[in-house]
Amino acid sequence: MRLLSFTMAGKQLIGVLKQDRRTVIDLSLVDPSLPTDMNSFIDLGAGAIERVGRIIDSTSPKAEKELSDINLLSPIPVPRRNIFCVGRNYYEHAKEFHDSGFDATAGKSAVPEDPIIFTKATTSMSGPFDPIPSYYDTSNSTDYEGELAVIIGSDGRDINKEDAFDFVYGYSVSNDVTARSLQHKHKQWFLGKSLDGYYPMGPVIVTSDEAGHPDTFHLKTLVNGEERQNSSVADLIFDIPTLIECISSNITLKKGDIIATGTPVGVGIGYEPPIFLKKGDLVEVEIDPIGSIRNRVE
Ligand code: MG
Repeated sequence: MRLLSFTMAGKQLIGVLKQDRRTVIDLSLVDPSLPTDMNSFIDLGAGAIERVGRIIDSTSPKAEKELSDINLLSPIPVPRRNIFCVGRNYYEHAKEFHDSGFDATAGKSAVPEDPIIFTKATTSMSGPFDPIPSYYDTSNSTDYEGELAVIIGSDGRDINKEDAFDFVYGYSVSNDVTARSLQHKHKQWFLGKSLDGYYPMGPVIVTSDEAGHPDTFHLKTLVNGEERQNSSVADLIFDIPTLIECISSNITLKKGDIIATGTPVGVGIGYEPPIFLKKGDLVEVEIDPIGSIRNRVE
């Protein structure tokens, strides 16, 4: 199932994108007892997905909207907690970042021995087609990082790798937008990664029952139509089960948590000299089979 959040007539709602990828079913008109925010829907677990799946094909046309008529939000417009993120998690990107001079944490080796986990503030979240407010970055060093986002569907601590996919609710597309000079200057990455609006996500959450194995996913990032990143998600250094095991051995994972799994080679600082985003650029991140997000730099 493809779940999304949107606003209509000033109300925030959740919906399902139909197979035609153009029609949205407003769940508040299908079943008024369902929640209208995604965090509460995720709380209801797989049971709610199955229930909606059973009634979705017999809905009244009144519950259907054209995708082009609604204002899409991030599927989780206000995360309950910071977004968990993973640094240097594709081999070629680990090398390009290590060699760029922008990594204040760089040791001798480009490839980390253990996952590098940091977070982005909840206020960095923005919608799949929202502008990137690069005017907040006074260092003029804003860069893109196309990333697969994993949405957690059950609370868990000390989750074994073997059980990790049982805790995955679904997947989304995201851009871990980063102000490189701030990331470097403040040593810890939090400020450079957390500017308001620096985490566009969407356009949907594809639930894990429909998505298939993430090793089959393919990520591309385009800037003004030019391909910059092109990688299989199977190339992650630390795969999704390893990340879930690592984080949950320290911090209880909660329903609705988001893990941005890291970016492949091809970011702006990988170029010599670096190519930062500038006002007017259009950044598109596409993950097959989820969809794509497109964000104009402002
Ligand atoms: Mg990243």
